[in-house]
Amino acid sequence: QNVKKYFPIKGGILKRTVGHLKAVDDVSFQIHKGETLGIVGESGSGKSTLGRVMLRLLDPTDGTINFNDVDISQLKKKEMNEYRKDMQIVFQDPFASLNSKMSVGELIEEPLLVQTSLSRSERQQKAAEMIEKVGLRRSDLQKYPHEFSGGQRQRISIARALVLEPKFVICDEPVSALDVSIQAQVLNLMKDLQDDLGLTYLFIAHDLSVVKHISDRVAVMYLGRIAEIAPKKELYNNPLHPYTKGLLSSIPVIDTEEGGEKQRERVKLTGDLPSPANPPSGCTFRTRCPLAHDRCITERPELVEKEDGHFVACHLYTS
Ligand code: SF4
Ligand code: MG
Repeated sequence: QNVKKYFPIKGGILKRTVGHLKAVDDVSFQIHKGETLGIVGESGSGKSTLGRVMLRLLDPTDGTINFNDVDISQLKKKEMNEYRKDMQIVFQDPFASLNSKMSVGELIEEPLLVQTSLSRSERQQKAAEMIEKVGLRRSDLQKYPHEFSGGQRQRISIARALVLEPKFVICDEPVSALDVSIQAQVLNLMKDLQDDLGLTYLFIAHDLSVVKHISDRVAVMYLGRIAEIAPKKELYNNPLHPYTKGLLSSIPVIDTEEGGEKQRERVKLTGDLPSPANPPSGCTFRTRCPLAHDRCITERPELVEKEDGHFVACHLYTS
């Protein structure tokens, strides 16, 4: 609720704080148990920062973060440890996130060593079960990360994140670094694991095509704020925000799914994302919006519910 994460900007020879980079600027939403919420935005939109704040890998500047009705936003490190096990993250780059000096077995067992009091043989047993769940072999536990392809390494990262049996997992662009040909395999694996283990996902991506199949609802972020959030089908079939329309215009329409998809109105996005250190006044999207008008310069649009569960922050939909 109302989560903000501002980073100080230091300037001058005294390195004083001269401003703030508003990476996450007043974001509120809920994720329901067992669902996948996709979060989409360009790089610099604040989506990864939001994910890290939700797990308290970064402290929020303001706002509350409720996990199963407990506000974890102010918990001290030690108090937070109780919840760490339940919340895990899978990072984008399987080459950077795995320590190359550790065997796969050690990598998967490490979270158990840190967070549980399981014996060595119990840890080994869990790692062996987990490696099979992600589609690799027990004999792979003796190998090292460099012996695996990108897709296999991401499977190892997933095993490492899930070995603690978390309830909530943030997937921060887990397939963006992979070849397109193996993205679908890893996404399918994540979906199967979600069903098997009863996981709840926050799935971060930089375009709307990746989250399309895995998400139940999708939120679109722009410069640290939510521009639109809706159930998946509703968002893809009836996008309201000009930014969402622009993002959808750049992905091909494939109508093989149930009911297919309407031909969409095309909105061409021009220009780059402005700096979050110096965002435009009023609606922060106005410098790129083909429908910007006077009110957009002075007044910031709030997120309002237009249809059941479909929220949008744009003056075109408020009177
Ligand atoms: Fe465009 Fe104005 Fe809507 Fe912002 S509020 S998206 S500038 S029409
Ligand atoms: Mg990122």
